[in-house]
Amino acid sequence: MRYSKAFMPTVKEVPSDAEVASHKLMIRAGLMRRLSSGTYTYLPAGWKILQKIMNIVREEMNRCGAQEILLPSVQPMELWQQSGRDVDYGETMCRFKDRHGRWNVLAPTAEEVVTNLVAGELNSYKQLPFNIYQISFKFRDEFRPRFGVLRSREFIMKDAYSFHDTPESLDEGYQIMYEAYKRVFIRCGVPFVIVLAESGEMGGSGSHQFTVPCESGEDLIVHTEDGDFAANIEKAPVDPIKAEPSGEPVEQIQEVHTPGVGTIADVCDFLKTSPEKMIKTLIYTTAEGKSAAVLLRGDHEANEEKITQQLGGIQNELAQPEKIKEITGADVGFAGPAGIEDKVDIMIIDQAVSVMAAGITGANKTDYHLKNVVPGRDFPLKGEKIAVTDVRNAVEGDTWQGKKLLFKRGIEVGQVFKLGSKYCRKLGCNFLDVNGKEQTPLMGCYGIGINRILASAIETGNDDNGIIWPVSIAPYEVIIVPVGKEEENAASEDIYNKLTQAGIDCLLDDRNARGGVKFNDADLLGIPLRITVGRKSLAENKVEVKLRRESDAVKVEVSEIIEYTV
Ligand code: ATP
Ligand code: MG
Ligand code: MG
Ligand code: MG
Repeated sequence: MRYSKAFMPTVKEVPSDAEVASHKLMIRAGLMRRLSSGTYTYLPAGWKILQKIMNIVREEMNRCGAQEILLPSVQPMELWQQSGRDVDYGETMCRFKDRHGRWNVLAPTAEEVVTNLVAGELNSYKQLPFNIYQISFKFRDEFRPRFGVLRSREFIMKDAYSFHDTPESLDEGYQIMYEAYKRVFIRCGVPFVIVLAESGEMGGSGSHQFTVPCESGEDLIVHTEDGDFAANIEKAPVDPIKAEPSGEPVEQIQEVHTPGVGTIADVCDFLKTSPEKMIKTLIYTTAEGKSAAVLLRGDHEANEEKITQQLGGIQNELAQPEKIKEITGADVGFAGPAGIEDKVDIMIIDQAVSVMAAGITGANKTDYHLKNVVPGRDFPLKGEKIAVTDVRNAVEGDTWQGKKLLFKRGIEVGQVFKLGSKYCRKLGCNFLDVNGKEQTPLMGCYGIGINRILASAIETGNDDNGIIWPVSIAPYEVIIVPVGKEEENAASEDIYNKLTQAGIDCLLDDRNARGGVKFNDADLLGIPLRITVGRKSLAENKVEVKLRRESDAVKVEVSEIIEYTV
């Protein structure tokens, strides 16, 4: 590409709403322009970077057998009602009615649509496992779009979905994606840490988040000094002692609330004093398609029917911990016959659903229910505590298992998740197992934010002069800067042609501008290697080669420049 022909308008002015480096530099370097709040137009250089990132992601997905598809970005609301996520997603999901009065949504993600697709095609266990993915626009009406493309309303996501017949197969599929993600981020040249996501207990493998450590990140990570343990501290949990309504009314569950049964303190006492008592765990799916876990103690028989009625349950499964794990894919601890050990006894199945231990805890106030309960923090646990939840209360300098805890801010660039059978159950996706028996597949889902990789690369690679790109995703690998007259221009032209022929992605700064201006733009654009063709060195048949990362240039023979650059 010749700079004189490039639609790459660099500017000095920093937009007033730009708070972070990536936002400022993407505007200044002419990579993108704002259209409206949280929506951006990518100019050629910006789009080229996104394409390089998408290619890396695509190669790594294909390498491990995932197959690319393309799903519509307008989805029927019905599917979201079936999964119950029409409520959970709230206003973040953009909805509109078509001319026939049918409700649609602009895809914020695609679990429902993929499950619906697979439901129509899957018959036999022989078809499993498989993984399908797409790279496409997603729209989320973020409450507070900010930091440029780090949290925009429209963005490009790679979303993959795997389907399995056994938990072992899901584990394997998950691990394959986990490894592929590592390769993606290594190849994109962004530093990253892998942290436990959600409030899963220590060692849980339900979800991992790939996070780029940097100050402008919105996530908070807690980790041990040696890095053996790292987790995302989820957004401020509601403290049930202060009993704030969670926002999502779950009337049926509130009705189950048995006044006078107990407060959280009572539960603690109960758990401490009666660990041997049988506690039964039930999973209910309410008419609205919500799930709730309910723990019942000894005399549960009498309560069961009543609760089922009050929940308006359409499905009632008496479940043991293994069963619940199988159904939800949630890697959680449970209260079992052996009592509460160092495991959680209350869990969240659907993100937006409160979970209460009916007949045991109740909430401490009418109309309140427990959400984001953190055992250990909100009530004591029996025995040694090693739950991740302990760490969530920690402050810088605390120790955990003899190791110092540190905190970091970071940007979530990707997340992998074991979903279990939730979507398949709700959307009627089944298969026949080896014995001809109908079974529900287990699912995993895996997301990567393409735009966030771009922005994270800038957040972690910049200096006062501009961007410093990793070579793999740079808009150009080399910039050739002639400073002088015809002779220098001709020599530059020659080098440009040769490097381009050698497959190197080059930008030739053929503008009629002063050297200083060209150097500033080269630095601002962050092109990894700069070749300066100036009068002095050319007289010795040499050019100056400088890495963007380094301050010193080296002189290289013109005849050796290709070898040197490649
Ligand atoms: P966050 O916690 O930052 O809101 P998320 O957990 O809601 O992200 P996921 O549903 O896990 O996001 O989506 C998969 C990936 O899509 C994320 O890991 C992130 O890289 C990207 N992503 C999500 N929301 C946005 C957004 N508003 N702008 C840009 N990228 C996004
Ligand atoms: Mg989000
Ligand atoms: Mg997140
Ligand atoms: Mg996420």
